[in-house]
Amino acid sequence: MVQITMPLNFLGTVYREIRQSLVDMGEMFDLLEQPAEVTDKPGAPALRVSGGTVEFRDVHFGYDAARPILRGVTLMVPAGRKVAIVGPSGAGKSTIGRLLFRFYDVTAGAVAIDDQDVRDVSQDSLHARIGVVPQDTVLFNDTIRYNIAYGRPEASLTEIEAAAKAARIHDFIASLPQGYETQVGERGLKLSGGEKQRVGIARTLLKNPPILLLDEATSALDSETEAGIQAQLKAMGEGRTVIAIAHRLSTIVDADEIVVLEAGRVAERGTHEALVARGERYATMWARQQAGEEDDAAA
Ligand code: ADP
Ligand code: MG
Repeated sequence: MVQITMPLNFLGTVYREIRQSLVDMGEMFDLLEQPAEVTDKPGAPALRVSGGTVEFRDVHFGYDAARPILRGVTLMVPAGRKVAIVGPSGAGKSTIGRLLFRFYDVTAGAVAIDDQDVRDVSQDSLHARIGVVPQDTVLFNDTIRYNIAYGRPEASLTEIEAAAKAARIHDFIASLPQGYETQVGERGLKLSGGEKQRVGIARTLLKNPPILLLDEATSALDSETEAGIQAQLKAMGEGRTVIAIAHRLSTIVDADEIVVLEAGRVAERGTHEALVARGERYATMWARQQAGEEDDAAA
């Protein structure tokens, strides 16, 4: 990340939007592994989000032609609903997130938001409408104010404070001698995992995207901190379309639909109750996690 953001800094403010979207995605995916393979069509219009319905229509995809990763995935997240994706490590869960961002183009099928194919709209507008709460929020060596405002640099301090309050980090910030002007990051105040997550949540709240992508957002935290963060994530999801890639199944029992992905295919789908009653893959994962075992199969 350092290697790519540093040279981009020199390009100046015109490229702020581009750098912004790169860093947002870089927070979630390893940026340096991601080739910039896709480009806007000439004159591509901005994405127009009405409700924020997300659709994957029979999506096939592989990072290289020889090895298919997604093999006919169909998903529909109605506006304002929450769909969770679970399944074994390597099943293709994070790949679904990358395709939603149009990091890559599908081999067959389509990804659409409010009936607009993501290949037909400008990438800037696409990235502006999707919020990510990453596993590890990246802090810049700057003020806490800058770090929260990163998704919307023109935000007022009042707006920044409102986002911090909603993320339950305002009181902590206010207690610091320099408040919102406190330097954080490697050369400043070190924040705990939970505090960083809250900064990430405040950042996303300020960006106010209609669509949220959570990729195992809280797995790095201890369970007490996680319970607190979960409440904020849940509140943030209200009224937004949410795709939650989950490790701990307890965080997604309330999803409108849970999709169990296995080797790039949907192996099971349904509500938590229906899947538990079905007594197959999901039920087995659930029983194992309830028993408190370290469940590698759900990583
Ligand atoms: P999950 O999130 O379910 O653990 P991923 O979507 O990250 O799985 O990865 C699915 C498969 O795609 C894995 O086998 C992984 O090794 C492979 N993969 C992921 N990213 C790349 C990449 N940039 N290039 C090639 N293969 C990749
Ligand atoms: Mg993953």
